[in-house]
Amino acid sequence: MPQAFDKGFRWVTDPSVQAKDKPDNPKESPGPESSSAPAKGPVQGSGAVNKDAVSAWRPTRNEPVINFVDSLIATAVNEGASDIHIEPREKELHVRLRIDGVLFNKPAPPIKMHPAIISRLKILANMDISERRLPQDGRIRANVSGKQIDLRISMLPISHGEKCVIRVLDSRAISVGLEQLGMDDDTLETFRSQILQPHGIVLVTGPTGSGKSTTLYSALQVMDGATLNICTVEDPVEYDLASVNQVQVHESIGMTFAAALRSLLRQDPDTIMVGEIRDAETARVAVQAALTGHMVLSTLHTNDAPSSITRLVDIGIESYLISAAVNGALAQRLLRRICENCKEQLTVIPESTAVYLEKHSDRTGPLYCGTGCEACHNTGYKGRIGIYELLVLNEELRDIITHNPSLGDLKAEAKKLGMKTLRDDGLQKAFEGLTTVEELIRITES
Ligand SMILES: [Zn+2]
Repeated sequence: MPQAFDKGFRWVTDPSVQAKDKPDNPKESPGPESSSAPAKGPVQGSGAVNKDAVSAWRPTRNEPVINFVDSLIATAVNEGASDIHIEPREKELHVRLRIDGVLFNKPAPPIKMHPAIISRLKILANMDISERRLPQDGRIRANVSGKQIDLRISMLPISHGEKCVIRVLDSRAISVGLEQLGMDDDTLETFRSQILQPHGIVLVTGPTGSGKSTTLYSALQVMDGATLNICTVEDPVEYDLASVNQVQVHESIGMTFAAALRSLLRQDPDTIMVGEIRDAETARVAVQAALTGHMVLSTLHTNDAPSSITRLVDIGIESYLISAAVNGALAQRLLRRICENCKEQLTVIPESTAVYLEKHSDRTGPLYCGTGCEACHNTGYKGRIGIYELLVLNEELRDIITHNPSLGDLKAEAKKLGMKTLRDDGLQKAFEGLTTVEELIRITES
């Protein structure tokens, strides 16, 4: 079992979390996990649990389970993990933490504790403990060492029981300033001037987990919430932002991104952040908003900045509208940073690095790596840094875009106008000793 119980840990009631459907017949629900009820443990549940259901669990203290869940969450928060995976296999339980984008195995308790662990988490997240065949979602608010942490819980039945994934929503992750994201001075200044334009669309692109949300939240913090009406449409709303009106999407009742956006436009907005542009309707309303004097920030799933333009064309937006509405697009990835504690200059260049450099760079100079130490779990990396590719639409590019260029032509034109690519930025950061070429290859060439 991981670390001892953290004394600074406590659960707090989240009034926004409502109990979900309760079992029809709670008396049938106890089973082996009955012992995991929160009634007397050191950690208290979130309060909104149905009292009848609680009494049907015949609560007895089961401190190993309670302590395991508490210490697992405390460990995850303290180690800066973004996700906790609890995975039942045929004969054993696997527990893994995702740290800096990579999963690490952690010591796991015996598989026989699994049902009780799952029940404990379901109780804390106000889920239906008797439902083991359908996926369930919930939230828990915890206090770890005096810090309030929100946890998003997802249960999914797999072959050997329910797999639980806990997303750790640490609000420190979004309270970083733009200047802390790792942009070079030019990119930072240009991006800042783009988002402070009175109107237009600025897109942030990249795959899931590339840090797009953090960039958007940092961008919103640059804006003056006191004099501007800043609104967001998100799915889900994960972090509370001060001075921002946040709208939650509910697709099942027709509250789609597009519907929410249309309503927001009648709310006298200045800046609107749309979590994601997935469809033509949302794209169309976003373009309309930008062309009628609003600043729109959003994300797209594309690999690079020029592709965001062609993606909007593919979605069905006319190229003359894109040319008029879009101000710029920022593509990004997160690379692991070399651990400062064990950083050394590379004496032998790995073959893949040599091949990559020969193909893509004429620069020479020392390169670095982490040799592995306790501080970085022997990985040689600690923390992450963004690499960026910022496309700004000037008159020349706007003109080119109206003529529906191929992606290749658009990329070539952007580079000619001085756009630094993700690869350029990654290589620069490798030569600055912030990351490795291996990491750049891992993240951008797969
Ligand atoms: Zn290290």
